[in-house]
Amino acid sequence: MKTEIVKINRAQFEDFELFSAAERLRVGGLVAFPTETVYGLGGNAFDETAAARIYAAKGRPSDNPLIVHIADTEALTELAAEVPEAAYRLAEAFWPGPLTMILKKSDKVPKATTGGLNTVAIRMPADEIASALIRLSGVYVAAPSANASGRPSTTKAEHVIEDLDGKIDMIIDGGASEIGLESTIVDLTGEVPLILRPGYINAEQLAEVLGEVRFDEAVLKRSASENIVAKAPGMKYRHYAPKAPLYIVEGKSDEVIRYINAEAVKNAAEGRITGILATEETKKNYTGGMVFCVGERANAASIAAGLFDTLRSFDETGVSVIYSESFADNPLGTAIMNRLLKAAGYHIIQLKQDEDI
Ligand code: AMP
Ligand code: MG
Repeated sequence: MKTEIVKINRAQFEDFELFSAAERLRVGGLVAFPTETVYGLGGNAFDETAAARIYAAKGRPSDNPLIVHIADTEALTELAAEVPEAAYRLAEAFWPGPLTMILKKSDKVPKATTGGLNTVAIRMPADEIASALIRLSGVYVAAPSANASGRPSTTKAEHVIEDLDGKIDMIIDGGASEIGLESTIVDLTGEVPLILRPGYINAEQLAEVLGEVRFDEAVLKRSASENIVAKAPGMKYRHYAPKAPLYIVEGKSDEVIRYINAEAVKNAAEGRITGILATEETKKNYTGGMVFCVGERANAASIAAGLFDTLRSFDETGVSVIYSESFADNPLGTAIMNRLLKAAGYHIIQLKQDEDI
């Protein structure tokens, strides 16, 4: 299949530029499009064949449900069997934006879209291109992240081309995703709202609106040996992994740098290149290996925005092992570390109990 690539300038575009993408969605095609979190791979959420094509293109396990993207809060009543008052309060506070809610699904939503579940995940993206595309298509758009299953999510059209070129109808290139991490997922079907996936909207913000909110235990897991099954089916899979093994090194900043530098020297002596995931503040201190700067520690959002792109960058370099600094101590830390720990298969090298970075 030939994948058509359409460039759209987010800052200034007209509806007609999205007409053919919207038409593809309407007739059962697959269109990758930018959102403020990551790029999504969209198909008509009410069309079982389109849903099946999404799973096939990504190589996604069929029990991993898709998030349904909407352009208007009114869609809630059509997609959900019942809409709790909390959902309207969250919508008011955070939509359009990087928050996904899990509700009981209505009969209209096929199980092909929800991975066989009786619940449905719903999000209203803020990105102007995503929003216009959904509105113009006239359908609800089921869209998982537009990456091949298991690889880091896509935050640029180039990443989508790497993973899905030739497998989908169209890719809309709208530039880099602003946030760079997938949406926060909150499950409203139980007694207490549960965060199934941490994201840009954090637990404190949700608690302000909801009163009580808890984390699904699996979200805070720090080791592969903790045998906790995630409530979001997709969160149990190995994910985000670069090709080379990745280790997160934790300890005081200077010790982390010393450790990684020593490993790079050892590896070089054996003819192996070491990849290093560093920050603006620390990158100059690495004396060997191949250093990639993910963002600025002083600006946590820049680290979130750069994470998947940096993880992907290592794959083109031929590094045989990657060491990453840790990012627990910043406002977005829970979400960043959740992704990084998965990418590392929960491999942490703990240098000292006293954590610094
Ligand atoms: P992605 O769109 O690739 O970011 O993946 C969607 C995420 O949402 C996966 O982790 C899914 O398991 C999760 N998800 C989607 N629908 C549901 C649902 N009904 N219940 C729980 N988790 C869900
Ligand atoms: Mg995904």
